[in-house]
Amino acid sequence: MAKQSIYKRYITELEPKPQPGECSYWFIFCKDRLLVEVRDDKAELPYRSDLDGLKVSLIRTRHLGRFNEQPCYVAEIESGSIPPDMRLYELRALYYAVDFDIFLLAGKAFQIINWDKTHQFCGRCGSKMNEVEKEIAKICPRCGLINYTRISPAVITAIFKEDKILLAHSAAFKGKLYSLIAGFVEPGETLEDGVRREIMEEVGLSVKNIKYFGSQAWPFSSSLMVGYTAEYESGEITVDHNEITDADWFDVNNLPELPAEYSIAREMINVYINRF
Ligand SMILES: [Zn+2]
Repeated sequence: MAKQSIYKRYITELEPKPQPGECSYWFIFCKDRLLVEVRDDKAELPYRSDLDGLKVSLIRTRHLGRFNEQPCYVAEIESGSIPPDMRLYELRALYYAVDFDIFLLAGKAFQIINWDKTHQFCGRCGSKMNEVEKEIAKICPRCGLINYTRISPAVITAIFKEDKILLAHSAAFKGKLYSLIAGFVEPGETLEDGVRREIMEEVGLSVKNIKYFGSQAWPFSSSLMVGYTAEYESGEITVDHNEITDADWFDVNNLPELPAEYSIAREMINVYINRF
């Protein structure tokens, strides 16, 4: 499920920029929440024609491409009154409210609007940045620096020891949730180097037979999660008590609270559950 493509009903067509017609789709964020229209008890993306009831003006409007053969846009509102047939959904909660294509595209839209907001000025000379035509990028008119949207690669690994899987609880997780070992890749590393280093740092284990599993855009931290499987090689579990507060080998009959269904972590854990 996590590997579904955004390109089933969406095309990244940035030029020519069309005028937003009545049937265009709008991803409108208020801070980290998306505005949706509730039609027949179902949450849908609003059309241009649905936005007349908004008492606040749209800021930072960007053309995003075409969805369902109609132009789609992303924009922000600061706050204000929301019409009674509209609701604001936190990005993760959207998974349970809208169809999966909209969930995926909302993640893309969210990252682009946040990048837009945080790249208004040149990081080198401080000048106001200009938009680059035909791609999602900004250029400094004074020193020529170009900023593209930023995605941080991160690796996540399902580690197996015979019929058991390693799951860890992080201080950042809610409740008693346990998941796979994950972390951002550092400059100079291959993805596999990142897998080895993160596992050694967080739980003190060496692994072997590192194999690619799949990837998933992860908009909650503007990252690209790259999933791997690996086998235990040596060492005793030693948690760092910084990022990880507990870790253990679990068998399929004794699993703790697991990550949400939309995550690649859960997808990998589900493959393990189905195998045993
Ligand atoms: Zn500059």
